Amino acid sequence: MKKGQIGVTTENIFPVIKKFLYSDNEIFLRELVSNAIDATQKLKALSSFGEYKGELGDMNVTVTIDKEAGTLTVSDHGIGMTADDIEKYINQIAFSGAEEFVNKYKDTAANIIGHFGLGFYSAFMVSKKVEIRSLSYQEGAEAVRWECDGSPAYEMEPCDKSTRGTDIILYIDDDSKEYLEQARIDTLLKKYCRFLPVPVISGKVQEWKDGKYVDTDKDKVINSTEPAWTKKPSELTDEDYRNFYRELYPGQEDPLFWIHLNVDYPFTLTGILYFPKIKNNLDIRKDRIQLYCNQVFVTDSVEGVVPEFMMLLQGVIDSPDIPLNVSRSYLQSDTAVKKISGYITKKVASRLDELFKADRNDFESKWDDIKIFIEYGMLTDEKFCDAALKFTLLKDTEGKYFTLEEYRTLIEPAQTDKDGNVIYIYATDPEGQYSNIKAANDKGYNVLLMDGQLDGHFISMLESKLEKTQFVRVDSESASRLIPKSDSNETGLNPDEISMLTTLFRSSIPKSEKAEFLVSFESLDPAADPVLITQNEYMRRMKDMAATQPGMSFYAELPDNYNLIVNTSQPVVERILKNAKEALEEKVAPLRDKINADNDGLSKLRASFQDNKPTDDQKDEEKTIMAAVESSRTEMDKIVSDYALEHPVIKQAIDLALLSAGLLRGKELSEFIHRSVKLL
Ligand code: ADP
Repeated sequence: MKKGQIGVTTENIFPVIKKFLYSDNEIFLRELVSNAIDATQKLKALSSFGEYKGELGDMNVTVTIDKEAGTLTVSDHGIGMTADDIEKYINQIAFSGAEEFVNKYKDTAANIIGHFGLGFYSAFMVSKKVEIRSLSYQEGAEAVRWECDGSPAYEMEPCDKSTRGTDIILYIDDDSKEYLEQARIDTLLKKYCRFLPVPVISGKVQEWKDGKYVDTDKDKVINSTEPAWTKKPSELTDEDYRNFYRELYPGQEDPLFWIHLNVDYPFTLTGILYFPKIKNNLDIRKDRIQLYCNQVFVTDSVEGVVPEFMMLLQGVIDSPDIPLNVSRSYLQSDTAVKKISGYITKKVASRLDELFKADRNDFESKWDDIKIFIEYGMLTDEKFCDAALKFTLLKDTEGKYFTLEEYRTLIEPAQTDKDGNVIYIYATDPEGQYSNIKAANDKGYNVLLMDGQLDGHFISMLESKLEKTQFVRVDSESASRLIPKSDSNETGLNPDEISMLTTLFRSSIPKSEKAEFLVSFESLDPAADPVLITQNEYMRRMKDMAATQPGMSFYAELPDNYNLIVNTSQPVVERILKNAKEALEEKVAPLRDKINADNDGLSKLRASFQDNKPTDDQKDEEKTIMAAVESSRTEMDKIVSDYALEHPVIKQAIDLALLSAGLLRGKELSEFIHRSVKLL
């Protein structure tokens, strides 16, 4: 028997590893099974080159639990190891790897999390003793047994193993007894080994018998050895892709479509990315895409490897070129990883473009489901954005789809304003904004539907990307002012009439701290509503943003500002004004005359002291006149407001507009209904 010291200078290296890796210690199984697979694949390769002439025989890898002995054994029929091999690969290389590892990471325990490729010595994370029994494939090789209890001392001696290959026997530690449970091992194998290229067997297939599950004598194979992504796209049918998806994500709705990735230069990468139905729910689950390295599962947190917006996708990526034995922050700055990420972006964009070109109708039918993904990508990835401008669709309120170019051509003639800006009109709530949409359509304008979760940001992005482009929400102005064609605004009313109408309407607006209304007048279509409520585009965007972004609470706390536009050409409004004038003129006229006279006096007075400093007397006189004007005005306002209160038609007209804008609630709504019933 040979006794020796493993080439490690750090005394008791294993307790250190154990402590550091405790949370992640389950990966030992992945490492050992991967080694077994490698050894198997190597022998297959040697055989195919003719360097190994013997029978290959059973090449399965098995993982066996012996509860009584307290062992977990990983066995393969691969190339095996001679004593020299063990000396070289295990005693020296594997353990020097361990030493390096500890030296490198002893100060930065956090880096350990997510560290991969620990290799053979990760077995010591869960074992008090590890035994290797191996018979090399080489002719005349002698079987060898090696054993180590985690101290730097090991023992090695010939043994009587008669089958080719290697058994790694773990004497499981008392605090790792979970690894002697078949269910736990099954879970781990399912997680890490389900797509390994060599059959992995653990336990027996069970069947339902006499009210419980019992083992049959059939071996249970854990993995499918030829997962779809390892095949050529030409070998796969759509159903194959769907079946693979179902295997990966059981119980989920079928994907919309998929992209088969396949590169071998300048890095190697294969995989299949699926587009699930995302709808408007932007739930970025960061564990959807699974990362594999030569069919060994590595992780399902792929931040850094794929661009952020791709996290909405599902599927697998397999690349031996992603450096797995480094920390996440390093991963993100790694140039190979950046290339991979760039490649995936390009590939996804070109596949979408392909789908768009190949079958526009089909693409349109999927648009609502992939829209959020594409918008997210365009907002966060410059390159993707540029590529996506070609196939991004806009949908109007009638459900028609347009490319950006088509849409501009469509609306340019009718929707260019006086400054040459093309105005894109959009609705966020087709029900709530129904009357505004209709009014805009009646004017010959098209209205886009922008009700997605990211549409607000998307609109800002388009405004910055597309030249001379402005978006306005359909209810931000009266239809005739959505696209300003000239600066003039003729109401056909004189200032006195405007003043009276302003008071009539302003005094009938419901009082609220949360909303402020600015009354204005426009001569709109006589067939349109008498009163219209709009909300300023800029203010609304600021408030929308404030709602989602911290640090903008100033906007969030402002009351909502609305414009209350009175349609002066509408017969009801005309009648309101006419009746009010008739009823009030007698009382109001003298006051108005007095105000005018006082204002005249005020102008004259001010002209007299224009160049000189006013005397104290003059200042007093000025104050007196101003007070008189103020008091006449208050009196006049009171007369008009009192009249408004007695004539519910004004309030009714306002309430109808509020109702149509979805702003009439609670007490006001109930009063409105009451009043309407009375009018009946
Ligand atoms: P890595 O697999 O990264 O090279 P490991 O520490 O896991 O590092 O293994 C070290 C070496 O030991 C392997 O490269 C291989 O040569 C040898 N080895 C490990 N397990 C086996 C096995 N089951 N059969 C044959 N050789 C093995």
